[in-house]
Amino acid sequence: MSLKVYTMKDGSMSPLKGKTLAVIGYGSQGHAQAQNLRDSGVKVIIGQRKGSANYKLAVKHGFKPVSAAEAAAQADIIQILLPDEVQKAVYESDILPHLKAGKTLIWSHGFNIHFKNIVPPKDVNVIMIAPKGPGHLVRSEFVKGGGVPCLIAIHQDATGKARDIALAHARGVGGLKAGAIETTFKDETETDLFGEQSVLCGGLSALVKAGFETLIEAGYPEELAYFECMHEVKLIVDLFYQGGLSYMRYSVSNTAEFGDMVTGPRIITAKTKLEMKKVLKEIQNGKFAKTFLTELQSGGKNFRAWEAKEKNHPLEVVGRKLRKNMKWIDSKEV
Ligand code: NDP
Ligand code: MG
Repeated sequence: MSLKVYTMKDGSMSPLKGKTLAVIGYGSQGHAQAQNLRDSGVKVIIGQRKGSANYKLAVKHGFKPVSAAEAAAQADIIQILLPDEVQKAVYESDILPHLKAGKTLIWSHGFNIHFKNIVPPKDVNVIMIAPKGPGHLVRSEFVKGGGVPCLIAIHQDATGKARDIALAHARGVGGLKAGAIETTFKDETETDLFGEQSVLCGGLSALVKAGFETLIEAGYPEELAYFECMHEVKLIVDLFYQGGLSYMRYSVSNTAEFGDMVTGPRIITAKTKLEMKKVLKEIQNGKFAKTFLTELQSGGKNFRAWEAKEKNHPLEVVGRKLRKNMKWIDSKEV
């Protein structure tokens, strides 16, 4: 299946001329997309609750943040960049009352629309521009003159202008410089959840932890285990990023490449793949979304407890200690 990829020639900023765009939430994606859009000539206002570090950051960046409700009232285009589990409540109390016919709602992840947690009125546009990278990269690549690739999707085209607005927005955040791929809310949501659970956040951290534990349980020093199973992941992934698996295999020793071929399939087995298929099913049938929302919307007690426990894993403790001596890595301790 070949997908449509939009580049700079496919979108102009003119559909956003004379419009007010509200970015609701000044967090990871909010601070990045809002600044990029403003630098691209869009009239951007910020809806951000008072009192937090993000409020202060928006002020520092030269915005005059207002409440979500006020921003939604003033704007023609409303972009919701709040955590997924918070969006429904803020949408119902602050945004829905101001959704006049012809306005546009923008998401950066299809979760709430696809799982029908939020069902907007039929007379508004509903679109998605989802940068395929964390907020700080969306901003830093833009400042360097580039952009982060993004996905765009049209869920509802009430005005006949939804695609033009989406392309203008994608251009404004820098996405057209790197290529914007057209997709659907369904495909974006399901593949994004699957990727972060099975490979990126879930799979990779479980792999690193299991490798680290295997070495320390066999009596090797934690410091050595940290370097071999955690620190060097970045060096390998950078090679993937630049030239795929082939470039990694070209770059490492023959010893490492041989070990890769014979051992990799013993670690990630047919059983692992079977489990991945189950994970995908639970994403597709809404079971994951339900479990996630139930936990987070009832206070997130288990979620916080799990987070606290993971923070004290020996891998984390030794890592915090070692990173203090690695001044060049710009360590970020939470
Ligand atoms: P963040 O967690 O960084 O967003 C935090 C923002 O939401 C802050 O402005 C925060 O305000 C506000 N907020 C949190 N809770 C509430 C609340 N109860 N009421 C009102 N405001 C609240 O979100 P992200 O930027 O990570 O995610 C935003 C969207 O972008 C999501 O849909 C996500 O899936 C998507 N996305 C995120 C990516 C990423 O890299 N993070 C990548 C691609 C898509 P305060 O500071 O006051 O708490
Ligand atoms: Mg993702």
